[in-house]
Amino acid sequence: MDYFLTEEQQMIKEIAAKIATEKVRPVRGELDESEEFPWEIMKILAQSDLFGVYLPEKYGGLNGGVLENCLAIEELGRACIGVATTYAASGLGAYPILLHGSEEQKQKYLPVIASGEKLAAFAVTEAGAGSDAGSIQTTARRDGDHYVLNGTKQWITNGGEAEIYTVIAVTDREKGARGASAFIVDKNTPGLAFGKKENKLGIRSSATREVIFEDARVPAENLIAREGMGFIVALKTFDHARPGVAAQAVGIAQRALDEATHYARVRKQFGHPISSFQGVQFMLADMAIAVEASRALVYSAARMIDSGVKDIAKASAICKTFASDACMQVTVDAVQIFGGYGYMKEYPVEKLLRDAKITQIYEGSNEIQRNVIAAHLLKESAKGTGE
Ligand SMILES: Cc1cc2nc3c(=O)[nH]c(=O)nc-3n(C[C@H](O)[C@H](O)[C@H](O)COP(=O)(O)OP(=O)(O)OC[C@H]3O[C@@H](n4cnc5c(N)ncnc54)[C@H](O)[C@@H]3O)c2cc1C
Repeated sequence: MDYFLTEEQQMIKEIAAKIATEKVRPVRGELDESEEFPWEIMKILAQSDLFGVYLPEKYGGLNGGVLENCLAIEELGRACIGVATTYAASGLGAYPILLHGSEEQKQKYLPVIASGEKLAAFAVTEAGAGSDAGSIQTTARRDGDHYVLNGTKQWITNGGEAEIYTVIAVTDREKGARGASAFIVDKNTPGLAFGKKENKLGIRSSATREVIFEDARVPAENLIAREGMGFIVALKTFDHARPGVAAQAVGIAQRALDEATHYARVRKQFGHPISSFQGVQFMLADMAIAVEASRALVYSAARMIDSGVKDIAKASAICKTFASDACMQVTVDAVQIFGGYGYMKEYPVEKLLRDAKITQIYEGSNEIQRNVIAAHLLKESAKGTGE
């Protein structure tokens, strides 16, 4: 399908696709096996100006938005989402600053993120606070011209590798949802430490670590927006970043479809290519429908967000949920088309199936996304504004 991309958007897609094909695909298996952090590839993405595609020109970016970010993520995801998520998580860490930061904070942090000189990360989740982000325990206590942070964030993508952390911590427990605040924490802050790299089912080259604060003193000027705005910052950040998770899902699913189509043409049983059997053809057709519908939904949600409309939570949740569920099904079907070979590590589809699962879980599980979608539907219906 033609999505009528602009010349710049087409260029971003092509550059990301070239890096994915030439630099990521040859090492994807090795990165998956060794769990090595893909620094070499991050350097190549930085040299190609891809880290700033969604950032304004005045902060060193290419002046694009969520759609440009999604195009780059999708192409990288076609090769390896361990790499794509590492790239995307830097954007996730940057969004709180882009959306709610002061001019000084933007000037200080966004250009080094746009150039790829420094990676960013976003830290909300804790051992006891996943879907229920409102129950985070990490605290930030004001002490003169600093805040003192204490607590442990869990499963933070780019944890230990990023130089810049945007963090949600409780500043006033009495105030409930209005008692959390967002901070920028530099990696070299005394009192900031990291746990071991997690051993994961998929996206194995990406770094997932605890981020630990023990009396970490953060300058008060690193508070994002105002005290009490933490969850608003987090919600808006996820609304802008979730289409990126959906784009990862589209990338994986497209690759699974390509691999399965090729395999179906070359694998012969009963004296014929398995692609001649209608049971296999229907599976391929359903996979193609799922991939294209996901892509269309992701691009249109991204365009809607980039248009500046205010209420984007439902569209963002819908594209993430649909694309990640579709991706899971498509990768399961791809393994089915490969039969027993699909179960073997020598073939590409088993990694795709393992990688697909995370897109249904992170940046808000699909059950939580369905809660968000339903809440919006009911609110719109009550107001008489539903479609
Ligand atoms: C590899 C990886 C990378 C991650 N990267 C980051 C990161 O960079 N930054 C960050 O802050 N976090 C990160 N996370 C955390 C991620 O966002 C959470 O795992 C996710 O939000 C779900 O939380 P949980 O795992 O604690 O599951 P839980 O909240 O314990 O949920 C368990 C199950 O219960 C369901 N459930 C929970 N509540 C409800 C409800 N109200 N209604 C229906 N079902 C419900 C969930 O959908 C899920 O199926 C990462 C996680 C992983 C695994």
